[in-house]
Amino acid sequence: MGIALVGLGKYATEQLAPALQETANCYLAGIVTGDSNKAAQWKRHYTLNEQCVYNYENYDNIKDNPAIDIVYVVTPNALHAEFVIRAAKAGKHVICEKPLATTTKDCDRMIEACENAGVTLSVGYRLHFEPYNQQMMRLGQTHKFGFIEHLIAKDGIEGVTGWRLDPQLAGEGGPLMDVGIYCLQAANYVYNMSPIAVTGQQDGQSVHFHLEYPGGFTAECECSFSKKMNYLHANASNGWFELEPAFGYAGIKGKTSVGSLHFEQVNQQAIEMDSIAKAILSGKSTPVPGDMGRDDVQMLLAINRALDTGQRVLLDPVIRASATTETGGAINGAWFASQDEMQH
Ligand code: NAD
Repeated sequence: MGIALVGLGKYATEQLAPALQETANCYLAGIVTGDSNKAAQWKRHYTLNEQCVYNYENYDNIKDNPAIDIVYVVTPNALHAEFVIRAAKAGKHVICEKPLATTTKDCDRMIEACENAGVTLSVGYRLHFEPYNQQMMRLGQTHKFGFIEHLIAKDGIEGVTGWRLDPQLAGEGGPLMDVGIYCLQAANYVYNMSPIAVTGQQDGQSVHFHLEYPGGFTAECECSFSKKMNYLHANASNGWFELEPAFGYAGIKGKTSVGSLHFEQVNQQAIEMDSIAKAILSGKSTPVPGDMGRDDVQMLLAINRALDTGQRVLLDPVIRASATTETGGAINGAWFASQDEMQH
């Protein structure tokens, strides 16, 4: 399937376009950029035809380009909605970077536009396709080491500049939408549940948040724009398992209470795009659906409300659990059935 990238910033340039040189089910078929110099550079570098190069004004003409099957939106967060909705109206399947949007209203508009157009909406949740994180899902969900008594997830980066510091473009909550989302996702996919209540505190450019799950299970999370952290740890009744680094593009390492984990290092973005393309081609649900992205945005906004008010914020417990089990993919039983070799 032909993929067009919208927004040729750092992630599109350094990760997605190179990954598209390694994919089996999809290829770089077009670009959408507001910068004519970038357009010329990309055209040369990736040998693209003029007809596959769009700007933000003539982007809707993508509807007439049969070489483009999927539009991948990689702009600042608050602009995802506009570009996703325009892609859906052009009749193209969509992959949208995380977080899906900065408001649940925008998420709903995006999901509705894709449903109305009969196209799929996927979120660029690359770690759902990464073997070490998949192992964390399996160990958590199969209770391999018993029930989890304590889960910790931390993700932080330093030297953040530009739109990520602007709540109008990045969303509210400082580092929450950018890196906190990885902690939330990890806690949810290890438990295969969504939290029913959240609390949190902000400390400069760092946010600590506490997730409460049904059954009294909990997760302690920390995200930051001023501290490097990259860690996932689960302490269970009969052992523990962890990743460090946990959420990077490469070099993920893991161990458990009975030894080291050894999995292949993969190109996460290539597998993500190939898996989404394969699901579309075979008429299956995407493993990383827009609904999951919407639920995450709702939870992140609830955490932000907890930061603002200092109060415990309650969440609807059912939404996420049903979304993940119905849509399957990275965290359903079938996945475990085909990969049930525990490698430690
Ligand atoms: P970036 O700033 O490097 O790129 C953003 C692109 O959007 C630029 O090409 C910029 O020109 C364009 N743009 C269009 N309108 C703009 C506007 N009004 N203001 C600013 N830029 C505008 O950012 P990035 O790091 O590439 O992030 C882009 C998206 O990808 C974000 O949603 C981010 O969360 C996501 N991302 C995901 C991952 C991941 O691992 N999945 C990693 C990095 C970024």
